[in-house]
Amino acid sequence: MQNTKRIVVKVGSNVLTTSTGKLDITRMSALVDQIAWLRNNGYEVILVSSGAVACGRKELQVDHELDSVEQRQLYSAIGQIKLIHQYYDLFREYNIAIGQVLTMKEHFEEGEQYNNQRACMEVMLQNGVLPVVNENDTVCVTELMFTDNDELSGLVARMLGAGTLVLLSNIDGIYTGDPKKPESQLIRTVRPEDNLDRYIQTSKSSAGRGGMESKYHTARTVAQSGIRVIIANGERDNILVDLIRDPENTVHTEFIV
Ligand code: GLU
Repeated sequence: MQNTKRIVVKVGSNVLTTSTGKLDITRMSALVDQIAWLRNNGYEVILVSSGAVACGRKELQVDHELDSVEQRQLYSAIGQIKLIHQYYDLFREYNIAIGQVLTMKEHFEEGEQYNNQRACMEVMLQNGVLPVVNENDTVCVTELMFTDNDELSGLVARMLGAGTLVLLSNIDGIYTGDPKKPESQLIRTVRPEDNLDRYIQTSKSSAGRGGMESKYHTARTVAQSGIRVIIANGERDNILVDLIRDPENTVHTEFIV
């Protein structure tokens, strides 16, 4: 049974950073306002936030070459602090306590760690604490890491029996072609029997690891387990509130179950 009042919101690095790679505090603040609104309207929210690596990259200039693993470890270690600190300050304005959950793919295999992790997030929710989740990028560096935070957010939604998963990136949803081309149309609803493979763009943003291909894959898998999945644009004003209050008139792609 899914809990219809429980929502997992995943925010991509590209939503949280400006074109120069700086943390976009104005956007973060707007997202926090909307999450506070959701909570005031009876929703339990779990936030899966990317942005650690992108944010850390801007914090430290190094004058020598770093390989990709070193970059990921170094920048995520620095960036995660900044990210969580910012969320802490912003949510505090609403008297919302947040708790940080850094996780790994292996914690989602049935067993003690899975149970502990679920119990941890449940106890947070029961006590009104908002879990802010990210991959533990400092140690997850091999092929054992999540494909990206889209996959992670799907696993969190399933683990917690959420009714809805919202994937926020800088695009309105899935289009019938290149979103930049005027002839491309947004696909509003995806039914379980629909196959959109031919429409999925493989290009990615520079900020994070995800992309539409992985969002589509996650969305399908998660919807198959009975969770409504929404792909929407986190750069649109008030998107989370509008998706709840007036979904008919709010641009997004929804995977129905
Ligand atoms: N965990 C990474 C970060 O916080 C993001 C992974 C992704 O882009 O999905 O930077």
